[in-house]
Amino acid sequence: MSVVNKVGKALHHIVVVGGGAGGLELATRLGDQLGKRGKAVVTLVDKYSTHMWKPLLHEVAAGSMDMDEHEIEYLAQGYWHHFNFRLGALEKLDRSKQVITLSPTFDEDGELLIPGREIAYDTLVIAVGSVSNDFGIPGVQEYAVALETQAEAAMFHRRLINACIRTQVAPSDTNPGHLNVAIIGGGATGVELSAELHNTTRQLAAHGLDNIDPDRDVKLTIIEAAPRILPALPEDISLKVQLELQKLNIDLKLGQRVTKVDAQGVHTKDGLLVAASLVVWAAGIKAPDFLKNLDGLETNWSNQLVVKTTLQTTHDDNIFALGDCAACPWPAQGKDAQGRVILVPPRAQAAHQQASMLLKSIKRKIKGKSLPEYNYRDFGSLVSLGKYSTVGSLMGGLTGGKLFIQGTFAGIMYRMLYKMHQYALHGLSKVILDTIARIITRRSSPHVKVH
Ligand SMILES: Cc1cc2nc3c(=O)[nH]c(=O)nc-3n(C[C@H](O)[C@H](O)[C@H](O)COP(=O)(O)OP(=O)(O)OC[C@H]3O[C@@H](n4cnc5c(N)ncnc54)[C@H](O)[C@@H]3O)c2cc1C
Repeated sequence: MSVVNKVGKALHHIVVVGGGAGGLELATRLGDQLGKRGKAVVTLVDKYSTHMWKPLLHEVAAGSMDMDEHEIEYLAQGYWHHFNFRLGALEKLDRSKQVITLSPTFDEDGELLIPGREIAYDTLVIAVGSVSNDFGIPGVQEYAVALETQAEAAMFHRRLINACIRTQVAPSDTNPGHLNVAIIGGGATGVELSAELHNTTRQLAAHGLDNIDPDRDVKLTIIEAAPRILPALPEDISLKVQLELQKLNIDLKLGQRVTKVDAQGVHTKDGLLVAASLVVWAAGIKAPDFLKNLDGLETNWSNQLVVKTTLQTTHDDNIFALGDCAACPWPAQGKDAQGRVILVPPRAQAAHQQASMLLKSIKRKIKGKSLPEYNYRDFGSLVSLGKYSTVGSLMGGLTGGKLFIQGTFAGIMYRMLYKMHQYALHGLSKVILDTIARIITRRSSPHVKVH
């Protein structure tokens, strides 16, 4: 409920749960515009203490990006942008009392750090993102790594470095297969990861691991159930990217449904075994399971909270959801073959747009005004093949139609999405300074993380 400030005034309490692509932008901008001026109290809750923009995780995994340089401490961001940060995972919700419960937090040694606690709200925004969905396929949890968190990306990178070291001391001709990587899922994440890995394994070999011959020792395979890679993107982009991957000698197993992952590698329904020592799962996402039991809020088949076009949950006007965890209608797209309303896709650009709209909506809600409706604007799809190429199309408002682009310009447009995120978090001057600093340090530091 309302929070009373130092002079006894009751202030509206906005609680944002999830400091990801959408939630951190929203908390930062609400803090700047309402928290700073004493018009409301803004609290951000996250189960981790630092933020990293998720679309960078495949670069962290491949070693072409150093996570430490891009992490943001929530406490520091809250200090600069006038919001409170509370560490803990949302566990329960009591809508009648307008209270959320956070689970206890433990340190690395398993000692209790913060006990479970309750936080009261006037307006609640749930922005907890998505987790990977293994569809119950045996062995995925045990043998494959998903790139959903910073810890998972860092773990994959460590395994990659270890595989390189093993290959260095026991090269493929005597002990083959250490650097066989199978990527399950030929969507944007899988495709982008394969190109980054192609580059970084070559760079690692050049950094003194001279027994490794990348053309002989590194085998990268993408396994995709659909008949083409990038099934969610237009066919022309998919074909173009496919040609680029073939030039890099990346093996594409298309139309192959994975049935099991084990110590040997990945097995498919057609009886194929893709031998691999490193397996990445990038074949599907769902919203977190706990949302299914959140005090009766409506959810869909993939656990997403069903929201109206105002982004309010269907059963409670004081609770909003945004980003990957929200099932938000996209009326302009009509209905699918089964007659279901098409939903806004789970993408960083949607989370960014929704955070921008909710900034306005919440200010209007506090004043008792009507709320705007969200309409997803698709600015296009770009797939980065790291240093090799960027391929995609720009859409709608930017070009007045669909424009196929490739190369340097496409690469700049791809990076713009991250710049927009940084701009929302830090403002223009810091983004410019940061960009200049990175251009300078790039000249003096290795282009691949070697530990
Ligand atoms: C490797 C990879 C590459 C991608 N590339 C692209 C791309 O190129 N372009 C694009 O548009 N999209 C891309 N995406 C998708 C994009 O990252 C997501 O759509 C976007 O991050 C969704 O934003 P969000 O705010 O909904 O959730 P997230 O950014 O996932 O943030 C969710 C936050 O909630 C926190 N959280 C989760 N559960 C709880 C809980 N119970 N309590 C408290 N906090 C919790 C998490 O710690 C996290 O900070 C990529 C995703 C991945 C994994």
